[in-house]
Amino acid sequence: MKTTKKIVLNENDMPREWYNIVADMHTKPMPPLHPVTKQPLAPADLEPIFAKELIKQEVSSERWIEIPEEVRDLYRIYRPTPLVRASGLEKALDTPAKIYFKNESVSPVGSHKLNSAIPQAYYNKIEGITSITTETGAGQWGSAMSVACQHFGINLQVFMVKISYEQKPYRKSVMNTYGANVIASPSNLTEVGRRMQQQFPGTNGSLGMAISEAMELAMKDEKTKYTLGSVLNHVTLHQTIIGLEAEKQMEIAGDYPDVVIGCFGGGSNFSGIAFPFLRHKLTEGKDIRLIAVEPASCPKLTRGKFLYDYGDTEGFTPLLPMYTLGHNFEPAEIHAGGLRYHGAGTLVSQLRKDGLIEAEAIKQNETFEAGVLFARAEGIVPAPESTHAIAMTIREALKAKEEGKERVILFNLSGHGLIDMAAYDKYLSGSLSNYEVSDAEIEKSLAGLK
Ligand SMILES: *Cc1c(COP(=O)(O)O)cnc(C)c1O
Repeated sequence: MKTTKKIVLNENDMPREWYNIVADMHTKPMPPLHPVTKQPLAPADLEPIFAKELIKQEVSSERWIEIPEEVRDLYRIYRPTPLVRASGLEKALDTPAKIYFKNESVSPVGSHKLNSAIPQAYYNKIEGITSITTETGAGQWGSAMSVACQHFGINLQVFMVKISYEQKPYRKSVMNTYGANVIASPSNLTEVGRRMQQQFPGTNGSLGMAISEAMELAMKDEKTKYTLGSVLNHVTLHQTIIGLEAEKQMEIAGDYPDVVIGCFGGGSNFSGIAFPFLRHKLTEGKDIRLIAVEPASCPKLTRGKFLYDYGDTEGFTPLLPMYTLGHNFEPAEIHAGGLRYHGAGTLVSQLRKDGLIEAEAIKQNETFEAGVLFARAEGIVPAPESTHAIAMTIREALKAKEEGKERVILFNLSGHGLIDMAAYDKYLSGSLSNYEVSDAEIEKSLAGLK
């Protein structure tokens, strides 16, 4: 029998609600703490920074949260995204495993980030907010916010991590085209930025620094709010549309995944694909594995510590309970810019602590090898971030072959890599570094945190 290559959902079958896993978690997440008083945070403490509706979602334990019609309308530009049977990759690996991937690279900005950018801009708009600040690593989140803010008529100031600003100039062009202002971080626009440049001369910048800069501007002006593209509960909530669609599509395909895989930066795309399936494990005891894949150079889930830490370098954010390498950790210059973040979201961290999800760290060369194999087998050049999920998928598929077992693997293709070709060039010419952080570096970065 000929198998279907692409499982496409009808527009009308697009989910109408996001899924909030907090409702089904056996151990509820620990509360965020106020950055100064270190007491549990009141939702009102977040109001200078975030739109009220987003704060409500951040602390909600309701299982299903309705997707507003205006948001669904914009989702329809690229959603539902296809679920694809990776038959070419299966053949290349000669594996008995069935491999499926959810293709989030079809969004206008080439990644899953738009799934949260649209609702975040929307909730700010209906509250009368006229300006938004944000940070971006590789540029994907900044591009997504640029589209969303342009649609709702909101000004956007993006702080882009300096090394990415230099390595990926076309990301800046994309954001400018959509009408956003972009500056390299640390910048001279904020007090924090000026201080960082003095404290760390010649720094590459980091997401932690860029977040501090963006938050400083938002805290200074009532009509300006801040948005974050990963880590927080409301961001992972919005991303569950990925897994909820995939759940329906797997049903159409007549398969159910034994293992679900996503690459891991702060947790938004992994949570997005994994949480709707994890819900079957939590509520029905389904036997399913969920694997988060991080770079060996920034291994918070596999080698970090679970403790209260800040989300940014300066300590403006609430203290969040998370797996972290320390908020001063400066990750090496790997090309998966979106995975260069010191911490993990609260929900994923608690689930990892409770043994409900797995984590693996993979070195850069193996991920690019996987990315090239995937491009040749399936015709899509994956984002350097997504190649981490592909590398893990390949490990699982080869294990299935070794054991002579059928196995259904689902992974999230979080984005395409067509603006990351400099990284592929380096890999193809054999000059990519394979950096793995040392225990001493991690210990040093964690010293002083409790
Ligand atoms: C931002 C990004 C990531 C990492 O962020 P998460 O919040 O962990 O998903 C992964 N892949 C792509 C393509 C990205 O843009």
